[in-house]
Amino acid sequence: MTAPVVTRFAPSPTGHLHKGHAYAALQASNFAKKHGGRFLLRIEDIDHTRCNSENAEQILEDLRWLGIEWEEPVRIQNQHLNEYRETAGKLEQHGFLYPCFCTRKDIQREIERAGQAPHGSEGPLYPSTCRHLSKDEQKARIAAGEAHALRLDLKRAMNEIGQELTWQDRIHGEQKCRPELLGDAVIVRKDIGTSYHLAAVHDDALQGITDIVRGEDLFESTNLHRVLQELLNLPVPSYHHHKLLTDEKGNRLAKRDKAITLKSLRESGVSAESLKSQVSSV
Ligand code: GLU
Repeated sequence: MTAPVVTRFAPSPTGHLHKGHAYAALQASNFAKKHGGRFLLRIEDIDHTRCNSENAEQILEDLRWLGIEWEEPVRIQNQHLNEYRETAGKLEQHGFLYPCFCTRKDIQREIERAGQAPHGSEGPLYPSTCRHLSKDEQKARIAAGEAHALRLDLKRAMNEIGQELTWQDRIHGEQKCRPELLGDAVIVRKDIGTSYHLAAVHDDALQGITDIVRGEDLFESTNLHRVLQELLNLPVPSYHHHKLLTDEKGNRLAKRDKAITLKSLRESGVSAESLKSQVSSV
């Protein structure tokens, strides 16, 4: 017997939801419905510099308006920061993370100095400067209170894993993982003590998510998520990276564009039914 389907919608309350989020939430909840599965909601608010509880409340209101139903309780990530710390601790214990003291400027300077750096799809990758620090230097700088992030030692991680990773993408077919596109990614940010990647991978496993239905903007992150799942011995869900809604000019919808938030559409008299039919016909 195959496991019952469990999907989730995991918005970050950095602003109000717009049509694109309505589309994404409906994709995830309809998938669960179609398979007689469960649908969960998770508020990804670990980044206290960008998220707030008013936006989170507004998200719940917007989703209710759309007629989307989720299981209670909603998982609120900022109530579980200690869990993410513990999970990072496991990776650290096995030597898969290293402290990185670089500022953005340091990284920029190092990339310019080296004259070349490995590139990901969004530009040059971290040149692994701090990976070469000795244990003594790491300890001394931490003891001196120097702020640091924790980065994945990708080389070491892939040596340990010892095989090529893949994921099943129900939209794009079987994918070979290319974690080198992200390089030595930040797993624990300096400012918030965790990262989207770590918290999402931790929670997806904890919540028993079988099918991750999310936008194509996160396609590349899945390369890293598979590595983390392998290192942490977590189950591997199926993925559905759906297209993103765009405006008439083909640009992605953005939270900062107030005119198309669900709240403002609702307040201007648009009904949930008409919005749903608009987004389901794209
Ligand atoms: N919180 C992420 C966002 O709002 C989504 C994370 C995910 O679905 O994995 O873009």
